[in-house]
Amino acid sequence: MDVELVAVTPNPEAVIEFAARTCYMSQDRATDESAGRLLPKLLTSGHESPFEHASATFRIRGCSRAMTHQLVRHRLLAVSQKSQRYVSEKGFEYVVPPSIPEEYRADYDSDMETIRRMYEKWKARKIRNEDARFVLPNACSTEIVITGNFREFRHIFRVRCSPHAQWEIREACLVMLDRLLAVAPAVFRDVADAVRSAADE
Ligand SMILES: Cc1cc2nc3c(=O)[nH]c(=O)nc-3n(C[C@H](O)[C@H](O)[C@H](O)COP(=O)(O)OP(=O)(O)OC[C@H]3O[C@@H](n4cnc5c(N)ncnc54)[C@H](O)[C@@H]3O)c2cc1C
Repeated sequence: MDVELVAVTPNPEAVIEFAARTCYMSQDRATDESAGRLLPKLLTSGHESPFEHASATFRIRGCSRAMTHQLVRHRLLAVSQKSQRYVSEKGFEYVVPPSIPEEYRADYDSDMETIRRMYEKWKARKIRNEDARFVLPNACSTEIVITGNFREFRHIFRVRCSPHAQWEIREACLVMLDRLLAVAPAVFRDVADAVRSAADE
């Protein structure tokens, strides 16, 4: 799986601080370091709407439809995903869960090959992509672009980086958290710390 940060609001912490300070008409008190102090205070007090003024776009490739089915449940994300109507899945790639033991790997690959042949059979009968895809597996590899604001990403990371989350969405969200922590530490530090301590338990 490949997770790429495509775009992010320039100077996101300054933008959030500017929005928040508008509430108090204190924009003139912003300094180079003030966002690092103000933003954690906003989060502690539950004043989270300013965090909606910064956003990020990620491209995720080589992940399963099983994973994206979970990701798109997050209703505040903007989503664009490889279509199984407009793009043929002939010879589709697939994701192998790490829980499949090496001794069964050949059997798993063989099942996928069987499904490839099933798909091709229905395509050969002139069935359209949109209906031939009914025989495809959740393992089918896909590509998705998501855009979300920082408030929503904080929520997603809290629930999807948890050890209770499914391994693949967790893996994707841990990478996204890492990328956003680098560009906006005052926004994502507390989430990253909580994720780390939950993983250590
Ligand atoms: C570990 C785990 C297991 C899960 N298992 C299942 C399962 O078995 N079956 C299943 O169907 N789903 C399952 N889900 C998905 C889950 O129920 C949510 O659909 C998903 O996490 C999206 O999160 P959300 O609704 O909190 O947030 P988002 O859609 O990302 O929205 C963010 C926040 O905005 C607010 N919000 C958004 N829309 C509304 C609204 N219409 N009304 C009120 N508030 C709103 C809420 O506060 C919400 O938390 C699972 C999720 C996790 C993390």
